[in-house]
Parts: sequence; C-alpha cells; structure tokens
Amino acid sequence: MPKARIVVVEDEPAIRRGVADALRLSGYEVTEAGDGAIGFREGAAAGVDLVLLDLLLPKRDGLDVLSELRRICPTRPVIILTARGSEDDRVRGLKMGADDYVVKPFSAKELIARVEAVLRRTLRPTPDVRLVQIGAGVGTIDLHRREVRWAGGDRIDLSETEAALLKYLVANKERAVSREELLSRVWGIGTAGLETRAVDMHVARLRAKLKDPATADDQGEAIVTVRAHGYMAGPALSVPEGEL
Ligand code: CA
Repeated sequence: MPKARIVVVEDEPAIRRGVADALRLSGYEVTEAGDGAIGFREGAAAGVDLVLLDLLLPKRDGLDVLSELRRICPTRPVIILTARGSEDDRVRGLKMGADDYVVKPFSAKELIARVEAVLRRTLRPTPDVRLVQIGAGVGTIDLHRREVRWAGGDRIDLSETEAALLKYLVANKERAVSREELLSRVWGIGTAGLETRAVDMHVARLRAKLKDPATADDQGEAIVTVRAHGYMAGPALSVPEGEL
C-alpha cells in the first residue's frame, strides 16, 4: 500500500514539528502548514488522505477551513486538534463533519492510534457486496434489489438505509463496528455521540426483517450487539465466495 499523505495544520511550531516527526516515523508522508490559509490550500490538494487541523489559527480560523474543506472534498477525513476546555469548538467541529478529535496535550502514541483508526475506515471503500446468505439455505438477501428472499417464498423489501447498513456490517464482518462509525460511513454524518439512537432503531427494524416469516425464527445471530461498542454481522450471515 502506498504511504498515506497527511497534512498537519498547526501554527505552534513545536507542536507541528512534533506531530510531523511522529507521523513520519510511523511511515506517513507529511505536509506541514503553519496557518489556516496554507492549511486549506494543502488540505484540499489532490491525493491527501487525512488532515490534522488545529482550530485556533492565524489567517483563517480552523472551523472555517473545516467547513470549506467539507464543501470541496466532502469525504476527506479530518481530525481536529483542540485545546483542553474548548468543548464547544470540538462539538461544532464534529457536527461540521470532522471524523475525530484529539485534545492537547496529546502523546504521539495516542495521535498515531487515532490517525490509524480513521484511515482504517476511510481508506478502504466499502466493497459492493450484492448477495448475502442467511443461515444454511434459509434465505438470501439481494442488496442491489434491496430484498430478502426466504426459502419459503416470502419476500421482504429493505429500505435504502437498511440495505446500506447491512452492506457495511457484512463488508466489515471480521470486526465490531461502532455506532459513530456507522453514522459517519452509512449516513455520512461525521459525529460522535450524537443521534446514535438512530442506528439502534434501524438495527431493530433490520432484525425484524431478518426474521423468517415462515418459521418465525429470528436468526438470533444475524446482527450481534457488541456491548458498549456497537454491532457486528453475526454467524447467521455469510457472503458467497468472491463477493468481498
Ligand atoms: Ca493554534
């Protein structure tokens, strides 16, 4: 995999260099920007994989840079660097579509972990899975047609969101996915802790639709709840060879 390209927008030279050095040591390609104007120019450039954005910046405010970035590059990942106590800015940043935030002073280790987590979920596009098997021949889900077909002949329609949610869970079958990640990747909202109940409601509806109408078997393990974290596609769902 080619090196990920990261832009560090931070006006405090010592912090900027510290962050840039830590990222380079971890194998990333780094561009440094010392004010909001340069930060926007570099952050919006083609081929950038992630932007680390301080909020209090000369020339152009960080939130202003963020909103303009969101307009021009809607899916470009942004992690906000904030000062302790500036919770309002942090919440505003997340509402405006930042993917995550790190509170200063942070350790290089914490920063790298956040960067890796964001890149892990943003660098790989969700594979376009079409067919999902339920149990051993109990039913099939066609995600393109948004339809559950049961062996007994019943057919149940899925909403666009339900199909997208299921596709994301199945494409990431090997791990638990947090509600925040589902919000940001399925709904496109880059937020943490806000409106996660919407995810629970959709999962509940999806579970009901994955209940075999003929036998009332609820496929107990179709979508597994992972306590204090989120959800995971369960053992009842499988993707035919070659679909992923
Ligand atoms: Ca600053």
